[in-house]
Amino acid sequence: MIVSGSKMHPAGFLYHLGWTAVDWLFPPYCIDCGTLGERWCQACQEKVPFLAPPLCEQCGRPIERAGLCPECQHEPLPLDGVRSCYVYEGTIREAIHRLKFEKDLGLAEILAKALVKTLSHEHWNIEVITSVPVSSTRMKERGYNQAEMLAVPLALITGIPYKRSLLKRIKESPSQIGLGRQERQENIRDAFVATARASQFSSILVIDDVITTGSTLQSCALALREQGVKQVFGLTLARAISRDPLARAIS
Ligand SMILES: [Zn+2]
Ligand SMILES: [Zn+2]
Repeated sequence: MIVSGSKMHPAGFLYHLGWTAVDWLFPPYCIDCGTLGERWCQACQEKVPFLAPPLCEQCGRPIERAGLCPECQHEPLPLDGVRSCYVYEGTIREAIHRLKFEKDLGLAEILAKALVKTLSHEHWNIEVITSVPVSSTRMKERGYNQAEMLAVPLALITGIPYKRSLLKRIKESPSQIGLGRQERQENIRDAFVATARASQFSSILVIDDVITTGSTLQSCALALREQGVKQVFGLTLARAISRDPLARAIS
């Protein structure tokens, strides 16, 4: 299914009504301006720009001119495309903090709409949605997976099925700082495995909260491809972008 962005699936509407009722009973405060009754008010949302072209056609990193970034020219990604809604800073950083540590599901619904908007600019034909899994230790500590908190409302809004058990994280990701793409891939290669269930699908969208080096999504994509999945796309709410041009070149 290709996401148009204009239509909401009935399940998404019901989910939205549920949160409207919760907000009526327990009014939230805007994460930015503090207005009562809003989780992230429209005015504050409009202050945060979406990541705009030119972006690398493959990895989605902002670049000077349309096309591929030098790293993707040198070595193609194992993904058919990666996109992110926002730069990881300010209100977005705060929003992700709330997802990660406060389980703010109502906010996740608003953020999922940003994912829909970003997806609607691509012509990705997606069969199922899944999310980057957390390790079982992390799941025990926190009780939930913040990437899944974004992926589930995205699935409800778009009507594309969400499948939880396509990927398993078998080890925590080691530090990736200062490594090149190939070294990062080696470093994280065995962090994920795809289950046999994944082989039923030809096109999978993997959701994560933040992309930093990109190697987590790459590792997920390699694992899914090993199960015969033909197309793997990645979508994250935010992208960490270093303002230091040298660091940016390796991010
Ligand atoms: Zn506000
Ligand atoms: Zn690229």
